[in-house]
Amino acid sequence: MTPRPPITIPSNLLPSDGRFGSGPSKIQQSFVTDLASTGTDLLGTSHRRKTVQSIVGGIRDQISNLYRLPDGYEVVLGVGGATAFWDAATFGLIDRQSAHFVCGEFSEKFATVTAGAPHLGEPVIVKAPYGSAPLPVAVSGVDVAAFIHNETSTGVMAPFGRHSEALVLVDGTSAAGAIPFDVTAVDAYYFSPQKALGSEGGLWLAIVSAAAIERIKTIAGSDRWIPPFLSLETALDNSRRDQTYNTPSLTTLYLLDRQLSSVLDQGGMEWAASRTMESSGLLYNWADSSTYASAFVEDPSLRSPTVVTLDFADDITADTIASVLKDNGIVDTESYRKLGRNQLRIATFPNIDPDDIAALIACIEFVVERLAG
Ligand SMILES: *Cc1c(COP(=O)(O)O)cnc(C)c1O
Repeated sequence: MTPRPPITIPSNLLPSDGRFGSGPSKIQQSFVTDLASTGTDLLGTSHRRKTVQSIVGGIRDQISNLYRLPDGYEVVLGVGGATAFWDAATFGLIDRQSAHFVCGEFSEKFATVTAGAPHLGEPVIVKAPYGSAPLPVAVSGVDVAAFIHNETSTGVMAPFGRHSEALVLVDGTSAAGAIPFDVTAVDAYYFSPQKALGSEGGLWLAIVSAAAIERIKTIAGSDRWIPPFLSLETALDNSRRDQTYNTPSLTTLYLLDRQLSSVLDQGGMEWAASRTMESSGLLYNWADSSTYASAFVEDPSLRSPTVVTLDFADDITADTIASVLKDNGIVDTESYRKLGRNQLRIATFPNIDPDDIAALIACIEFVVERLAG
């Protein structure tokens, strides 16, 4: 490959913030500054103190408000991220067998966990080609149906719902705080806070129904061995006291609390949803009218409002665009590696300004023109 001369994007085209990654995602800079100014009051102090308990309590209350949780629903949290929740659910929510609606790397990963669990039957896999999503059909015999709300690896917003007696588990990691849904159709909606909620990683949160709580207690009372760190009953007990079982990152909790307040202050879920629709709409409309870019997700009803995947024509290398953007301070627009497509992936989470998305489009056009010339 011949070395490419550097391409400098004129500063008047650049976005005000160059972070477009799908996770860890853009964090509001003022929260980071505020965190620093807590000085010796927060970081480096015990997580069992009132200060931290009031942050955890604030997070649980604000999630309840954001989703207007019906009676019987609770917010549970624990250390380890959505990946740890897959293991916790495998031990503490699935009784005999689960069904998995798979349409990308993340939904696939949960299915791989349950397939390896010696105490469970072989999971039923309902799979769609990447870039689309399986229909949420009823699967007989299973006691958990596992869906994903937003497949971060492909940019698909997938349908889910209650179609049998099975508990409905939904991975909401890159949708939580940005895409509304019918809470009554779900028994456990779980997520990590470093995607649409613009905090840091290392934590999982779950909105759980009364039926899910009952299942957690029943399994916990059975003779199944559950690793203590992955016990959902322990997580539930600690959450009710505004604590976590083991030490959480206080930074993650602080930033999440601030982010939730800011979303609620600006109008809650309606605000967040309309902002992500605006940003993603700019990209999809641009791609639909472009001669060299197109939306990877063909069905408009499955296109994610929070993670936009755009394919590029064969004579343009998306990785080269991403690398020129990076040289100019615009980061994390590369596609999900394992997908192996000639693609850019751009987050349009609520923290990202629609004006910056418009600027990004102008930058992509500028770069493609230079690369062609
Ligand atoms: C990022 C992501 C995960 C994994 O989250 P961790 O916090 O790294 O465990 C799971 N599911 C989805 C949909 C994700 O986007």
